Amino acid sequence: MRKQIAAANWKMNLSFQEASQLLDNILQSGITPAAHQLFLFAVPFPYLEMAKQKLNRIGYEAAAQNCHHKIKGAYTGEVSAIMLQSLGIRYCIVGHSERREYQREDNAMLAEKVNVCLNHSVIPVFCCGEPLAVREQGGEKDYVKQQLEESLFHLSEDEIRKIIIAYEPVWAIGTGKTATSAQAQDMHRCIRLLISERFGNHIASDIPILYGGSVKASNAAELFHCEDVDGGLVGGASLIADEFVEIMKALK
Ligand code: PEP
Repeated sequence: MRKQIAAANWKMNLSFQEASQLLDNILQSGITPAAHQLFLFAVPFPYLEMAKQKLNRIGYEAAAQNCHHKIKGAYTGEVSAIMLQSLGIRYCIVGHSERREYQREDNAMLAEKVNVCLNHSVIPVFCCGEPLAVREQGGEKDYVKQQLEESLFHLSEDEIRKIIIAYEPVWAIGTGKTATSAQAQDMHRCIRLLISERFGNHIASDIPILYGGSVKASNAAELFHCEDVDGGLVGGASLIADEFVEIMKALK
């Protein structure tokens, strides 16, 4: 079975003390991932080392929320994949819609980010997804196809098989408006087919595709039980221990 993943994206939230307490509360639930499951915690950069120490158990990993597309140099305030690698951080969100919107990250830049991550043993959690206006006009599949083509389809087979994809319709992120399980399954199936056409079914069937957009304890199980939905990337609900533990438990 391909990996089933519950990924927390804390964004720019929580003090160090609150973050530490949240991880303690989640770990106290004693939930142990099955061999095919993974629990990821994308925490703010200053908390990575603390999170890594606390999550030092099988199936739990600290992740970064972003990295720069260059590997080093005069980029004040930025963090590189090489730095993540040197901290032992093995996962990084790439192309979250908030970075696409507020930091103007485009598909070409995200292709560079994917490359620098893979070159330094950091697995990208690559985000894609359409804005509301695109969905209203029925253009969501073409939109996501272009995101995949321009940021991922240059990879080799050995590289693409390491990637995690997160489909996050922009209209569902932080809005409380979740895609229906039918909408999620339809897009996830489409993404898997696109990967299959480009790289072959043997690769497409192994790539985890997470759903993101107002996932919570009350809707996680229904979404995650869709055939092509392999877990979730979770913002708001990942800041509440009980909610996120229920989401972790809802994985296939
Ligand atoms: C996200 O930040 O990736 C996200 C999906 O946020 P939320 O769960 O709050 O919609």
